[in-house]
Amino acid sequence: MSRKVIITVAPTGSIPTWADNPNLPVTPEEVAAETKRSFEAGATVVHLHARDPNSGSPTSDLEVFRAYLDAVRDACPIVTQITTGGGATTLGLSPEDRLRPVVELRPDSASLNAGSMNFGRRLFPNLPEVMELYATRMKEIGVMPEFEVYDLSMVQNVEHWIRRPGLLDPPYQISFVMGVMGGIPATIKNLVALHESIPPEYTWQTVGIGRHQLTLGMVGTLMGGNIRVGFEDNLYLSRGVLAQSNAELVDKAARLIREFGMEVAGLDDTREMLPLLNK
Ligand code: ZN
Repeated sequence: MSRKVIITVAPTGSIPTWADNPNLPVTPEEVAAETKRSFEAGATVVHLHARDPNSGSPTSDLEVFRAYLDAVRDACPIVTQITTGGGATTLGLSPEDRLRPVVELRPDSASLNAGSMNFGRRLFPNLPEVMELYATRMKEIGVMPEFEVYDLSMVQNVEHWIRRPGLLDPPYQISFVMGVMGGIPATIKNLVALHESIPPEYTWQTVGIGRHQLTLGMVGTLMGGNIRVGFEDNLYLSRGVLAQSNAELVDKAARLIREFGMEVAGLDDTREMLPLLNK
């Protein structure tokens, strides 16, 4: 049987604006509609950030997060994931504030950023005590952390601060986020190094930034990984051509996966493959 590949869609993120791509979904209704279209095109996980519906700026307001999650859950049965990093660089939120929507709303998964870094020109603070707090709380409430790894050193952070003290039982779900200014450059050589640094039983996906989304992402699928696409990381369908919707990016990834003789994971496959804590 051919290998199944999970497609995650990250429809909005916290950085792109309407000036970057006028098709960017921002309100809960728009994000839910884009998520449904992406689900129908083959995405089985959605990674969500919340934005102020009027200004479009990132927010960590619990009620706004609730509106997003409610709208998405009404629209389709996709696996849900919310960020704990979205407001860290720009809003100066405390670790507890960043975690509150996860605790209150209980998505299937939440991001757990695996170390501090310069994210562009800003500090993205994720000290060991924050990682420990998040892993402990997420385990208690049955929310799967997705470790966001922006550099090779962060793999060590996960092993040293989380796995070794036994805060959470492995296997883990890992994202290799590649091509952020301040993180590991998006090259095949670096993806191989990252892949070789994690235990084989972990699930992982490639999050290639910008033009690396589909190219490096597809290399990752051939290496046994999954792929994340969407406007959070990339706004273009091909060189110079803005994507009309997130679903276009999902559809392109799905077509490429099938062309390479693999299958796109369905919802049941995805729940089976990921180390979810609330299966
Ligand atoms: Zn994100």
